[in-house]
Amino acid sequence: MNSERILFIVLDGLGDHAYRELDGLTPLEKANSTGFKKLKENGCQGLMDVIAPGVPPSSDVSHLVMFGYDIDKEYFGRGPIEALGEGVELEEGEIAFRGNLATVRVDNGYPVVVDRRAGRIGSEQTRELTGFLNEELGDFQGFRVRFQPLSEHRFVMVVSGEGLSHEVTDNDPHSEGKPVLLCQPVEEARDMDGARRLANLVNSITIEAIRRLSRHELNRIRVEKGLHEANAILVRSPGVKRRMVSFREKWDLNAACVAAGLLYKGIGRATGMDIYRVEGANGLLNTNITGKLSKALELLGKYDFVYLHLKGTDVASHSRNPVAKYEFIQRFEENLRMIDESVLAVTTIVVTGDHTTPCDRGMHSGEPVPILVSSNGLRKDDTRVFSEREAVRGGLGRIRGCELMQVLLDTIGRTVEYGTRPSPRRINYMPKQLNYLKLKEA
Ligand code: ZN
Ligand code: ZN
Repeated sequence: MNSERILFIVLDGLGDHAYRELDGLTPLEKANSTGFKKLKENGCQGLMDVIAPGVPPSSDVSHLVMFGYDIDKEYFGRGPIEALGEGVELEEGEIAFRGNLATVRVDNGYPVVVDRRAGRIGSEQTRELTGFLNEELGDFQGFRVRFQPLSEHRFVMVVSGEGLSHEVTDNDPHSEGKPVLLCQPVEEARDMDGARRLANLVNSITIEAIRRLSRHELNRIRVEKGLHEANAILVRSPGVKRRMVSFREKWDLNAACVAAGLLYKGIGRATGMDIYRVEGANGLLNTNITGKLSKALELLGKYDFVYLHLKGTDVASHSRNPVAKYEFIQRFEENLRMIDESVLAVTTIVVTGDHTTPCDRGMHSGEPVPILVSSNGLRKDDTRVFSEREAVRGGLGRIRGCELMQVLLDTIGRTVEYGTRPSPRRINYMPKQLNYLKLKEA
């Protein structure tokens, strides 16, 4: 019998290298025990190039690709996705940037970044300063500008008006000691005039924000207290809000998302999944893994597809800590004991990463990720443990991220032979809703 539901588990940045402090094993290999073994024995593993070999993916793009979205045609940028994850409502066509309040000092006419997070200024003060910017710059050269505070130093900047295109660069130099970057149209902009207009606008807003924030009373007090003043805005990842085809429309599967990180909730919302919160889930190393996995298992009773995201693996990788990564995977692995035979019998369970983040690199790499699929509907392989190195000879072979959903639909027995046309839509699966012929009444 084929499995009918899909539990899709992403351990962010799962793939890695082997380390001496882990006895010459990768964090995943070291954490391998009965939990993964049970899943592996019920399926097979392989390697996945989420975008293409050698291309390090960002998390938002890699998730959308795995969910079957065409990035060139359907992706609208990271700014709006993170805004959505925070519950910031955007109107169709509005352009959103992610932003930080920052500290700059002026050197030879250039604002040089001293602190990208303005001394990790608190949420309360960020609310006050973004409120001030809304009053001062809300109606700017005939365009509407809106600052929405998020936690700590973070905010979303939303710009709207006629003739703008989001195809511009960041002004955030992404490191301290460098001047704020000039916002420019990207070379491949489809609407070059609109991009030029937005770039000029962002540069003017940035200059005005520095001028006005520097004079704000709150910053005077911060300086007196020896704190970094929040006298500049750094903005990045612009994107425009467009309606995306929902995951359900794409695959005819109703879907739920269990994630704590902003970006991942945003991906869930952008693709029309129902979002679930779990007590103690925080997108960090000490997250409530047990709570998240049990929520995901509970949701399988109601949904065809449950997406569970855990960020701890990537957090450990970025802080170059293979031991913390191994311990996080091990905690996850132990929790797999919640998955019993009755769940295995009717569920296709996927465990993978959205990219490889080697701890010795501290950044995403373009190496493929290991992927494990447990399903009654799959041919088993004879690999021993779930691991980057064993996956090379796994039964799933080497697939691309954009191929994954079709593989999973086939695993749950929903596919039809190529060329079969039960639906006007060009799909390779059998839709749940079909139109039937009715005989005329006599
Ligand atoms: Zn990621
Ligand atoms: Zn990362």
